[in-house]
Amino acid sequence: MQTFMKSWTRFGVILYADDPKSIFTLKTYGSKQGVIDAISKLTAPGINTYTSKALEFSLQYFGAQHGGRKKDKVPQILMVITDGEATDPEGLKSSSDKLRENGITVISIGVEQAKKEELNIMAGDDISKVFYVDNFVALENLYKKIFPVICDSTKRGKRLGHICSADVVFLLDRSSSITPENYTIMLNFTKELVKTLDVRKDFIRVGCAQFASAPHHEFYLSDYTEKKDVMSRIDSLSYIGGNTYLGEALKHIKDYFDASRGSRRSVGIPQNLVLISDGDSHDDVEEAADSLRALGIVVFAIAVGDVHDLQLLQIAGTPERLFTVQNFKGLVTIKNVCRKLNASPTNILGISLKTTNVNFTVVREQTSGEH
Ligand SMILES: [Mg+2]
Repeated sequence: MQTFMKSWTRFGVILYADDPKSIFTLKTYGSKQGVIDAISKLTAPGINTYTSKALEFSLQYFGAQHGGRKKDKVPQILMVITDGEATDPEGLKSSSDKLRENGITVISIGVEQAKKEELNIMAGDDISKVFYVDNFVALENLYKKIFPVICDSTKRGKRLGHICSADVVFLLDRSSSITPENYTIMLNFTKELVKTLDVRKDFIRVGCAQFASAPHHEFYLSDYTEKKDVMSRIDSLSYIGGNTYLGEALKHIKDYFDASRGSRRSVGIPQNLVLISDGDSHDDVEEAADSLRALGIVVFAIAVGDVHDLQLLQIAGTPERLFTVQNFKGLVTIKNVCRKLNASPTNILGISLKTTNVNFTVVREQTSGEH
C-alpha cells in the first residue's frame, strides 16, 4: 500500500466461505498499520466458497454509512480474492453486474485453483481486471504482461505478425529513496524487458535517462541499433542517490521523443515512456506528464520500493499502466510470516497482494472479499 491517508484510500475487508462477514469497513482504519494489523489477524472461516453470496453482501459496504464516498466521485473498487470454484456459480453474473450498476469496479484475483471463467464473469468479461497471484510475484510474468501493452498501446502501432515497431524510452529513478538493492532490481527488470523487445533500427528503438536531484542523460533512441549494445549499456548505469526531482526529469525526457534524437513519432510509430520510480517526488509531476501525453507518448509507471502511487498514477494517467516490481526477498519474508502464523499459504498470499500491490490502491475505495 502506498502513502495511506484517510482522505485517500480507504480499505474494508469482508471474509467469506459459507457466510460472508464484514471484518472491518471503509471507515474503521485511518492508517496503513491499522489495516495491516487487522489483515494479519484473519483466519480462514469455513469450507465452502459462496462467492455470489459474498458479492451481494459486499454491496452495502460501499454505502456512506460504512465510509463509502461514491457521492464524492471516489472510485469504488471491489477486489475479490479467491482460490477455488464458487459453490454458487449461478449467481456470479447477477451479483457482480449489480455491483457494476452501482458504479463499483470488480477486480477478480485468482489464487491456485481459482476458475478462470468465474474470474472473468466477476470482472464483467473485462480481462484487464482479472489477475492471478503469480502475475504479481513473478517478475518474468510481469514483463511478459507489459510487453504486449506497449505494443498495443496505440492504434497507430505498426504490427506485422509478431513484429512490433515502437520507440521505448526508460526513465530510471536513482535517488536516495531507491535503495541500492532496489536499484539493482530496477536495472535487472529493465534488462529483462529489453530482452523481450525486438531491438533493431526499424523495429524497436530504446533510449534511457536517469534522474535524482537532476536528470542525467544516458542514451538516445538513435544511439544503438543492436540489443546487445543496449543491454551492456544498461549494465554500465550507475547509482547516485540524492533528492528526487521527477517533474524536472519528465520535462527533460520530452526531448528524447524528438526526431533529431531518433524518435519516429512523426511517422506514427508508437511512443512509450517507461518510468521506474517510487514516485516520491520533490516537485510536481502532473503537468509534465500531461505535456508528454499531449504529444501522444504513452507513459508507463513501474513502482519500486516504498511506493507513492498518487504521483505514479498521475504520471501513468491510468491504473492500467501502473505496474509493480515485486521484490523476491519480500516474497521470502511473506513465506516466513506464513510459517510463524501457521496460516494457509493462500491467505498469506492474499495479504501480500493487498499490502504490496499498488496497482489499484490510490484515490480508490476498496473492500476486499477474501476466501
Ligand atoms: Mg527519491
